[in-house]
Amino acid sequence: MNCEMCGKKEAEYKTIVEGTELTVCAKCSAYGKVIRKPQLAIKTKQKEGFKKQEKPEKIEKIVIDYGQKIRKARTKKEMTQEEFAKKLNIKESLLTKIENSVLKPSIPLARKLEKILKIRLVEEIEDNEKVEIKSRKTEAVTIGDLIDLE
Ligand SMILES: [Zn+2]
Repeated sequence: MNCEMCGKKEAEYKTIVEGTELTVCAKCSAYGKVIRKPQLAIKTKQKEGFKKQEKPEKIEKIVIDYGQKIRKARTKKEMTQEEFAKKLNIKESLLTKIENSVLKPSIPLARKLEKILKIRLVEEIEDNEKVEIKSRKTEAVTIGDLIDLE
């Protein structure tokens, strides 16, 4: 079926344009009131929107100056490395490595450190690159965008 407005091949939208029912392509459907959309496009869009809301793309990263921050906060609390390691239930040698920025703490350990020392060690970064790729993929499967590529 050809679009009744512009003549393009993929007329998948049933619309009411100025009181007349027309079968049109995705682009022309913007000019009227859509009463039926192609199934594929609707499904994909809903699914994607739902996913994004439920699971935002975020990366947890340890801050660069974690060692300095931990040492400073620990000394402020007047705890030795030994005492502090005991409190954390980790080896003193491990704490030394962390404070010297030789070893990055794991996210759960960093969260624990944050709580005890009241400092910020974990940054939450939005993974923009992933989101971009994802939305690009979505566009490719909707009928409207396939038509635009012609
Ligand atoms: Zn059209």
